[in-house]
Amino acid sequence: KTLANEGVRNLSPYQAGKPIEELERELGIRNIVKLASNENPLGLSAKVKQALQDQLAGLARYPDANGYYLKTCIAEKFNIKANQITLGNGSNDVLELIARTFVSDKNEVIYSQHAFVVYPIVTQAIGAKGIAVPAKDYGHDLDGMLDAINDRTRMIFIANPNNPTGTFLASDALHNFLKSVPANVLVVLDEAYSEYVAEEDRAPSFQWVNEFPNLLVTRTFSKAYGLAGLRAGFAVTGAEIADLLNRVRQPFNMNSLSLRAAEVALGDTGYLEKSVIVNDTGMAQLTLFCDEQGLRYIPSRGNFLTIEVGEDAAGIYQKLLHAGVIVRPVAGYELPRHLRVSIGLPEENQVFIEAMKKILAEQV
Ligand code: PMP
Repeated sequence: KTLANEGVRNLSPYQAGKPIEELERELGIRNIVKLASNENPLGLSAKVKQALQDQLAGLARYPDANGYYLKTCIAEKFNIKANQITLGNGSNDVLELIARTFVSDKNEVIYSQHAFVVYPIVTQAIGAKGIAVPAKDYGHDLDGMLDAINDRTRMIFIANPNNPTGTFLASDALHNFLKSVPANVLVVLDEAYSEYVAEEDRAPSFQWVNEFPNLLVTRTFSKAYGLAGLRAGFAVTGAEIADLLNRVRQPFNMNSLSLRAAEVALGDTGYLEKSVIVNDTGMAQLTLFCDEQGLRYIPSRGNFLTIEVGEDAAGIYQKLLHAGVIVRPVAGYELPRHLRVSIGLPEENQVFIEAMKKILAEQV
């Protein structure tokens, strides 16, 4: 009982699925379609594959501890300074680093009711108290979050778009919120799905870090850039916060392959554009299907759609699995009637649609 703090004891482990090959063996199915982890269905680009090949020879050496080249590329692309950037082994790593650097076990951390699972994990691991603010229309209730602030509050996590709901906060609402948050409370704005949002709707969040020294913006290479398996993410903050984060950061938290892959992916605008087009097309395909079937869903600005399938969400998840489609149950996010479906290639989405049609027909 004394081996770990109460927060750690109360954590449940991250629910990762079985390896696909193992599932295929178990179910006797081939070519399972995985629409469960909001990955990029395009796979690695030829450019990234080549870059990885080219890196192999150097792998007996340690990676560049400061990620000099990657930071230079990020800074150039987003018109920020390299000393505002903190790199991570995926943005999960950055989120954890942020919590470890700034939060203590005396603190409270605020997030939304349907928040990304990593926020409670990193909060509780430190022994801090997580405050889940009830959602508003499945999204963040910003006023409710402001009301939840007290003397112990150290940090607020906001994902925009949010996972697993796909809800999106308009720039104005976010900006007003930031103006209302006390300066000693840090706001982590997690923009993992930012690239899927139309450019004119995106908040100028990297500029806002100059206006709000308590703002930390995180991004990932796992989604639109297609590098989920390589693990690459980063935070953009004021230089002072970046300096503090980089004191705590493990020097080799990004490996040589992911550093180089991220650099190449960043410059591969063709791939990025294609990712967004495939996502828009797939989103239209899935929402049309839902509309035709009278299935409700939460309008999403991410690369996934969270569909209300009803009371038997767990049963439908199992039926889909046996039909060769993996989606994500979200009961653990207080969405027991929904399933989250990642947008795949058109033919993958169609496999989901056909399987779902059959399941719905059997229900009648
Ligand atoms: N934030 C949000 C909101 C996410 O949905 C995810 C991925 N599921 C992440 C961060 C973490 O992504 P990664 O660690 O792969 O960068």
